[in-house]
Amino acid sequence: MNDCIFCKIINGEIPSFKVYEDENCVAFLDVMPRSKGMCLVVPKKHYVFFDEDFNTSSKLFDAALIVGEKLKKSLEPLTVFFSAIQSQVPHFHVRVYPVYKDQIPLGENQPIETNEGELRELSEKIKGVDVGWKPEAKVVEVIKEVIVEKPKIEEPQHEKDDKPWRRRNLEVA
Ligand SMILES: [Zn+2]
Repeated sequence: MNDCIFCKIINGEIPSFKVYEDENCVAFLDVMPRSKGMCLVVPKKHYVFFDEDFNTSSKLFDAALIVGEKLKKSLEPLTVFFSAIQSQVPHFHVRVYPVYKDQIPLGENQPIETNEGELRELSEKIKGVDVGWKPEAKVVEVIKEVIVEKPKIEEPQHEKDDKPWRRRNLEVA
């Protein structure tokens, strides 16, 4: 087993407040949210970068849209923001932020205060909402073969923290 916190949440080793689950993805509330109801959508399969599994990544973005719509319908924010910026956890994921008048999830924001009771209540509320949208079956037509040289991703040798996006103290919200 690996030490990935998202894999542990998916396997139920760490408790979470789930709001959505399908064959490929799980969404749960962030316990340090930047806005009320902020969710993380993660693939059940562990991988770091989107292009390690295009099919699953495509389904992950679909799941993120469903979660965004669930948030809109249940919590009535002004809108919902999405981000797929690499963070401390090396497991590909999309963050879904409800945006309220007084909670605009900017990078410099600190997490808002919350507690287990509120998170449980929110997860039940979000989970219980139906979304009238389903991703259409995708037909991918290959028009032209494009050969792209894929850059080799070097794993860090000595410096554990040489990934520039992990240098910031604050997570990018
Ligand atoms: Zn993982």
